[in-house]
Amino acid sequence: MESTREGSQVGVLYIVATPIGNLDDITERACRVLTEVDVIAAEDTRHSGRLLQHLGIQKPMISLHEHNERNRADALLRRIEAGESAALVSDAGTPLISDPGFVVVREARARGVRVVPVPGACALVAALSAAGLPTDRFLFAGFVPAKSGARRAALQALAQETATLVFYESPHRIRDMIADIAGEMGDNREVVIARELTKTFETFYSGTAAELMAVLADDGNASRGEFVVMVRGAPSRAQQAAGLDVDRMLSLLVAELPVKQAAKIGAELTGLSRNELYQRALAFKSGR
Ligand code: SAM
Repeated sequence: MESTREGSQVGVLYIVATPIGNLDDITERACRVLTEVDVIAAEDTRHSGRLLQHLGIQKPMISLHEHNERNRADALLRRIEAGESAALVSDAGTPLISDPGFVVVREARARGVRVVPVPGACALVAALSAAGLPTDRFLFAGFVPAKSGARRAALQALAQETATLVFYESPHRIRDMIADIAGEMGDNREVVIARELTKTFETFYSGTAAELMAVLADDGNASRGEFVVMVRGAPSRAQQAAGLDVDRMLSLLVAELPVKQAAKIGAELTGLSRNELYQRALAFKSGR
């Protein structure tokens, strides 16, 4: 790949993350790329224009949002194919994460245009990094449907998911969302709400779904701003089994079945290791 200017390359589409509130979160690399590209495609040119002005960058912009992405993608990619470089930005955070850009990135890759991420702020990652919920496995579900019935159905479909669940939610619906989480996943499900990340009134609320419903009902400010909602995953079968009287289950099974079969069924019911259950079942059979 030819490099004509300091660092940035021609014929490249850069996917540039911008701040989610605190303007200091723009990276040096993002500033450099935005300064050097030929054109910036922005979800909202007025909004991104203010960021560029703050950064002292003047650059031609085109709008590329949810409703015109299909039409604009081709024109943008033609310019890149002709040797220009472009940056894609959204209103806040990382483009494509609940933001426009999928169509143009997909098309760019199909056409062999190089796509380069310039990483930075992303609300879901910032929220997870400080929530105190397990992060080894998480499922980002974006915005759930706005209508109550569809939202409840979406939450119900996720109720048995064992990974930490992460949602984006608007201030108008945050109360209903937490009420529906309580309804579909139980009053006692652990929930963390990250509000106004990186901004002056950044707050984390954590507790059971029922406790957070009470917080939102009591404190009007708690339902203002921008939100990431995180829900602890459902207990795995092995964790559920920890609350089950495994020995009683095994003693009933070995009374009716050979040890090997009792261990196999026990493992299927609980998610525990078949070998471990075999040893325990053997002890029951031999009366130890
Ligand atoms: N692309 C963005 C990102 O990387 O996070 C997300 C864009 S999405 C249209 C906007 C939603 O992200 C908001 O409604 C809110 O749920 C979440 N969000 C964005 N900024 C946030 C912030 N500062 N604090 C909490 N949530 C935020």
